Amino acid sequence: MAQRPFIVGNWKMHGTRAMLSEARAIDRAAQRLMKVEVAIAPPFTLIHAVHREAEQIGVGAQDCHHAEGGAHTGDISAAMCADAGAKFVILGHSERRGDHGESDACVKQKADVALAAGLRVILCCGESLDVREKGKAVKFVTDQLRASLPHIEDAAEQLTIAYEPIWAIGTGKTATPQDVSDMHVAIRALLVELYGEEQGSEVRILYGGSVKAENARELMDADEVGGALVGGASLTADSFMGIAIAAAEVFEG
Ligand code: PEP
Repeated sequence: MAQRPFIVGNWKMHGTRAMLSEARAIDRAAQRLMKVEVAIAPPFTLIHAVHREAEQIGVGAQDCHHAEGGAHTGDISAAMCADAGAKFVILGHSERRGDHGESDACVKQKADVALAAGLRVILCCGESLDVREKGKAVKFVTDQLRASLPHIEDAAEQLTIAYEPIWAIGTGKTATPQDVSDMHVAIRALLVELYGEEQGSEVRILYGGSVKAENARELMDADEVGGALVGGASLTADSFMGIAIAAAEVFEG
């Protein structure tokens, strides 16, 4: 595998300045693990502070508005995230789609605006338990992606997909390695169809959903998995870097 594994922590609505020591600990550990690309997406309020502290890890945002700017009280634009030090933004997370009614079209608009502002995009997709139990997971996720993916022109390295089955997020349940392989292979095929062989093969596809150091090896070993998007286990350096170490071992072969 040419690219380094990408291990991204999504801190969600957790973290005040007291958490900066954890970000520093993650950064120090990442300096000793250069084979892995490590990043965290703290809440907006900590982006600038984490950016100032970080020497090795990437810093990102968890969302941005779909407009470039304007009268949108309480919202944050992609350019503002970049100005605060974000290098990437997570978009289309199921908690955003659920809590804020974000449609595929809205996610696509956000992704286009974010890329234009110079941010890399981690675009999330994933099915509910009901959809999986009906045997429709692959069709649901590929349809969702078709409608949410941005134009990437010749910049596949700017885009990452995160497959996160909704029923596995924060529940302690994970998809089986076979289910992850099947989904990631289908997503890869879609990316190649939409962006062509060269660009489509370069886009990394992360798995997310209750990833921990204990299950990271088997999940990272599934076909077409390029890393992990991690929620709960990214809140401490110990648990988060345990996942990064497991990824390094898998990708080293
Ligand atoms: C997430 O919300 O992106 C996520 C994967 O959460 P968790 O690891 O806690 O399941």
